[in-house]
Amino acid sequence: MNEPFVLGWEEWAAFPGLGLPAVKAKVDTGARTSALHAVSVEPFGPVTNPQIRFILHPIPEKPDIEVICSAPALGQREITSSNGESEMRWVIETPVQVGEKTWPIELTLTNRETMAYRMLLGRQAILEDMVVNPTQSCAQGELSYELYKDFPRRRPVKRPLRIAILTREPSNYSSQRLKSAAETRGHVVEMINTARCTLAIDANKPKVYYDGQPLPVYDVIIPRIGASMTAYGMAVLRQFSIMGTYCLNTAEAIGASRDKLYAHQILARAGIAMPLTAFAHSPKDTKNLIDHVGTAPLVVKLLQSTQGRGVVLAETRKAAESVIDAFRGLDANFIVQDFVKEAEGADIRCFVVGGRVMAAMMRQAEDGDFRSNLHRGGSAKRVRISKEERTAAVRAAKAMGLSVAGVDMLRSSTGPKILEVNSSPGLEGVERTSGKDVAGLIVEYIETHVRPIVKTSTRRARS
Ligand code: ADP
Repeated sequence: MNEPFVLGWEEWAAFPGLGLPAVKAKVDTGARTSALHAVSVEPFGPVTNPQIRFILHPIPEKPDIEVICSAPALGQREITSSNGESEMRWVIETPVQVGEKTWPIELTLTNRETMAYRMLLGRQAILEDMVVNPTQSCAQGELSYELYKDFPRRRPVKRPLRIAILTREPSNYSSQRLKSAAETRGHVVEMINTARCTLAIDANKPKVYYDGQPLPVYDVIIPRIGASMTAYGMAVLRQFSIMGTYCLNTAEAIGASRDKLYAHQILARAGIAMPLTAFAHSPKDTKNLIDHVGTAPLVVKLLQSTQGRGVVLAETRKAAESVIDAFRGLDANFIVQDFVKEAEGADIRCFVVGGRVMAAMMRQAEDGDFRSNLHRGGSAKRVRISKEERTAAVRAAKAMGLSVAGVDMLRSSTGPKILEVNSSPGLEGVERTSGKDVAGLIVEYIETHVRPIVKTSTRRARS
């Protein structure tokens, strides 16, 4: 006959499905159900298939160490605890590992802050072939809270994530593709309109309100902030970040990429090749400005230009002078740039996710135009990029600090020249031309980068 599996009156347990390497449990055959310590228990997702997100402090002596967990919910149940009080609790099912054995158990989630054990293993979770020896402690061996030390560096477990897409265009292609790619992988996605968020700036309890209601703490924010909302969008994003949410692109990186002048300086400092460029704000000395860049033809761009709108090709020096004079009259910031003629009205968009080019497309200008923007009638097609172009795209995204970036470049006779790094690149053109599931690749990147552990004390100490 097999030796029975012995449980002592206390045991170390691990929860691989929740990403918890060690929790000390009290084994109590007097209790029917098992319970796990949880605070900030929040259901999310559809009512027909609710998910539960909760925070656990696995180490009783170190309440500053928080692990964020989530799991599908089995439902709610009324539980009467040993002190006679009854409470509605959420119930989850997840595998528990004690010693060499792993088996699924049901856990009710409740605040056990004042209890000596973060977990109670009740008789329902004790299988028929197990025996409890109330005189023995840790019959299945010891684990240690030291296991949480290298936790931040470990690959997080796959769990349902509560994701918000920060966008003013929830129904556009990119938002919808990201939503469906995330939902296919078991995550829950909510669309948040940046303009409808209000911020409560409070040192202890920072919050974001949405139409007057406080928003929950999301696991992830995917920012899709349009150019018209950059400043406010960044403020909303920073607020989420202070609340402990992982932001796919940070507010700082988005801000840097949106400020064309600053972006050029960052790229130049990183030694990334760009078309020769001069910046000016209402310069008196048009001649010198043109001389900095060289000879006509030249491209003159309004700094706040998007979609190729304030981008003008001046074929002759005279034409360049009159465009500059006109921009000067508008009291606008603008740049004068060497015209990369050999690009022949085409540019390359590389879609970078987590330091890798996941897809690329070539955009070709309409006949008679040098601007390849799709909004200007340009057409997109599949392209094979060179190793040099790949490296340039990855370096540009890295220099800007963007996890997700659309890097635009021109093919010049001396190699790739970076034009712009976009922090909310559209998915439509690049997915259609490359046939790649770029939205899925973004979600996979998110899954491996959401950190489940928060150390409140270090966060406070740093701020
Ligand atoms: P926007 O940010 O408004 O799209 P860009 O700087 O990207 O402005 O320019 C729009 C398009 O014009 C580019 O996609 C590219 O095809 C073309 N273009 C821009 N700068 C140059 C240049 N220096 N030489 C050649 N073509 C250029």
